[in-house]
Amino acid sequence: PDKQVWNFGAGPSVLPRAVLEQAQAEMLDYQGTGMSIIELSHRTPEFQALQDRLEADFRRLLSVPDNYRVIFVQGGASTQFSGVVYNLLASRRAQQLPRADGAATPVVDYLVTGGWSSKAAEEARKLGADVNLVVDSKKTLGAYRGVPDASEWRLSGERAAYVYYCANETVDGVEMRVPPQVHPDVPIVCDMSSDIMSYPVDVSRFGVIYAGVQKNMGAAGLTVVIIRDDLLERTPAADATTNTSPRFPSTYIPLMLDWTVHVKNGSLYNTPPMFSNYITALYCAHTLAEGGVTEMERRAVEKSTLIYDAIAASSGFYRCPVDEPYRSRMNIPFRLREEALEKLFLQGAEARHMRQLKGHRSVGGIRASVYNALPVEAVHALVAYMHEFRQEHQ
Ligand code: PMP
Repeated sequence: PDKQVWNFGAGPSVLPRAVLEQAQAEMLDYQGTGMSIIELSHRTPEFQALQDRLEADFRRLLSVPDNYRVIFVQGGASTQFSGVVYNLLASRRAQQLPRADGAATPVVDYLVTGGWSSKAAEEARKLGADVNLVVDSKKTLGAYRGVPDASEWRLSGERAAYVYYCANETVDGVEMRVPPQVHPDVPIVCDMSSDIMSYPVDVSRFGVIYAGVQKNMGAAGLTVVIIRDDLLERTPAADATTNTSPRFPSTYIPLMLDWTVHVKNGSLYNTPPMFSNYITALYCAHTLAEGGVTEMERRAVEKSTLIYDAIAASSGFYRCPVDEPYRSRMNIPFRLREEALEKLFLQGAEARHMRQLKGHRSVGGIRASVYNALPVEAVHALVAYMHEFRQEHQ
């Protein structure tokens, strides 16, 4: 292009240039097949090799232990809001847990720290699960601007079928990089959609991690789910093939939501979104070649610090609404003193080819997403513009 465009989008978002160039170069003839990857059958040796590489590279990047299964599924991260409920309530441990009086299921614990965990908790409730809100930041703090102190949490202890949280609230810019302290028998479930691959994770602390690939590891269409083996074990009743009730405790998990179906079929039960598998495989290989998640963390710290420092040095001209310990390294929301000025800021950014800086429609303001593939030069450009704009309008 004749101009350098910087993409600060929250997802779909910037991809590594090298990945796009490789996809372009291979588009008309994938590895000598004479056709593109998206025209091949998913049952070909070429595609199977790609899928195997994708899983192997992914496991290496996050050092996934052997007692965890990794599946790639469709439906976006949102589909796993329900997938988590169905699958984990069918697990052997959950089936044997006591229930509260009148409750259809054992209790499930949710930390609600932003828009995405709120949606997940709501889905569990609609499916009929006995949902306990361990934390509801908006209620306790007045806004999704952090995480209430652990002394205020209402965990259910070992009676909980699982504890759910979102590592990085993409809309609100609230990040929890360390999993919550919970009873050791209770599996922790984490939505890592928007910060996966940006720091090393001790997978062994989790029961389930899932993430849409479209921010830090691929092109929209795939969701990765990491599941500890024992959580796939079911009692005979839970593994029955017919539903006995339209509501929980249902004994039938809809086919495409059932993690065991995808485990048994190596994530190829049905036709996968080939292009997404392909781009995700290229991106994972690229991340490994660039130094893996440790190097990605170094870059994330560097980029996010530049922006937070610019906000801090602005004498209140720019304001980050998030409490310091929970400020995201991936999505950095900030406000100006009035909406008209924010609009002007965004117009100026567009004129400088800085794209997709507008805050999520539910909260407004500005949001700079600085995912792995965003070069530090983009952040330098943004910070220079922030400085310039402040000089002009303070
Ligand atoms: N969780 C988080 C943290 C997200 O950021 C998003 C999407 N931005 C979702 C879930 C929903 O993902 P999808 O659009 O793939 O359903």
